Amino acid sequence: MRVAVVGGGAVGLVVAGDLARRGVSVTLYERDELGSGATGRAAGIAYDAFADPVDAAVADRALERWRQWGLLDPCPYVWVAREDGDGTAIDGQVREMRANGRDVERVDPEALGERYPTLETDNVVAAGVANAAGLLDAESVVDSLADRARRTGADVRTGTPVSLNGPTAVESPTGTESFDAVVVAAGPATKPLVADAGVSLALKAYRAQVLVTESVDAALPSFYDATSEFYWRPQGDALLVGDGAHEVDPADWDRDADPEFVDATLDRVREATTLSIGVDRSWAGLCTATPDRDPLVGRAADGLWVATGWQGHGLMRAPAMGEFVARRLCGEPSRLDGRVGERLDPTRFDGDESFDALGYPTADW
Ligand SMILES: Cc1cc2nc3c(=O)[nH]c(=O)nc-3n(C[C@H](O)[C@H](O)[C@H](O)COP(=O)(O)OP(=O)(O)OC[C@H]3O[C@@H](n4cnc5c(N)ncnc54)[C@H](O)[C@@H]3O)c2cc1C
Repeated sequence: MRVAVVGGGAVGLVVAGDLARRGVSVTLYERDELGSGATGRAAGIAYDAFADPVDAAVADRALERWRQWGLLDPCPYVWVAREDGDGTAIDGQVREMRANGRDVERVDPEALGERYPTLETDNVVAAGVANAAGLLDAESVVDSLADRARRTGADVRTGTPVSLNGPTAVESPTGTESFDAVVVAAGPATKPLVADAGVSLALKAYRAQVLVTESVDAALPSFYDATSEFYWRPQGDALLVGDGAHEVDPADWDRDADPEFVDATLDRVREATTLSIGVDRSWAGLCTATPDRDPLVGRAADGLWVATGWQGHGLMRAPAMGEFVARRLCGEPSRLDGRVGERLDPTRFDGDESFDALGYPTADW
C-alpha cells in the first residue's frame, strides 16, 4: 500500500512512522520545516487528567507511548479553584478521573502551600493533582519522531507544499502522484486542503499565546488556575505561561504575542505566586476547533483520511491518535476502537455548521 501524509507536525510524523513500520510505503509532505506549525509552538504539557472516559483512554495510550519513547519528562499537573463553584467542580472531576483509573487526587490547599511555598494558596478552595503528567519538549519531539519515521522507511519531504487533486492524488511542485490513501494532518490547513477533494470539514482556527518568564528561583508543578483560566509549566529554570486565545483567520494572524497578553499574564502569575517575575520571550500559534470540541479523526471520504481539531490538546494526544489512524488504515484492531472511532468520526458534521471556536474556557489543560 502507498500512503501520502500531508503535514509534518507531531500527528503527521506519528502517522508516518506507524504506517512505515507496518510495511506501508509512506511519503510525508511538509510545506515548511518539520514542526513549523502548532507543534513547534506548543507549551508541551501532557496529562491524563480527563473526566471523560474516551479522553482518558486516549491520554492513557498517548502517555504510555511518550514514556516508551523517552520523551516525557515527569512533572505533576496541579489545578486549583479560588471560588466555591469551581471547587465543587474539581471534586466531581477528581472522582470521575479516578473512576477512569487515573492517578489523580484531591490535595488540601494547605498541604499544597507547604509542598510549593512560592504558590499563593490562601484563597485556594480546592485543588487536584495528576501524578502521571509530564512535559514534552517540542523540538526533541519533532527530531525524535522525524528520525523514527525516516528509520522505518518513510520518505519525508520538507519545503514541499501540496494540494489535493481528488481524494488520493497529491499535487506537489514536482508533479502529481497517486496513492492508495492520503492522510491530511495539516492543522487549520486541513480544511481548505480536503475541500479541494470535495470534503467539507467543521473546523475553525484560534490563536493561543504563551510567554516564557525570566528565570525564577522556585520549584513548581505544571499548573492550571480554573478560576482565572490560565496555565503554566516549568521550562528549565523559568515558567512558560499561557492563555489569551481568540478566533482568527488562519490565513492572516500575528505570530507574536500581544503586549496586553504579556502584561495581563505576568500580573496573574504575580497574584498566584510570591514571585516577582519578568518576561523573557513570547509567541502565538494556531489551534484547531470543532463544534463539539472533539477532534476529527478517521476516514473522511474514500481513500482520504484526516486528523485535526485538537482543541489545544494535539501534542499530548499525537502518539495515540496517530497510531489509531495507522491501525485503521491497515485494517488492524485498536484498543481505541468502538467509542473513540464513532465519536471522532470526521463525517459526523455536515461541514457547514456555524460555531464559536472559543465558546468555552480556552486554556483548559
Ligand atoms: C501556544 C500553544 C500552546 C499549546 N500547548 C499545548 C500543550 O501544552 N499540550 C498539547 O497537547 N497541545 C498544545 N497545543 C496544541 C498543539 O500544538 C497542537 O494540537 C498540535 O501540535 C497539532 O499537531 P498537528 O501535527 O496536528 O498540527 P501542526 O503541528 O500544526 O502541523 C501541521 C503541519 O502541516 C503543514 N502543512 C499545512 N498545509 C500544508 C500543505 N498544503 N502542504 C504541506 N504541508 C502543509 C504545516 O506547515 C504544519 O507543519 C498548543 C498550541 C499552541 C499554539
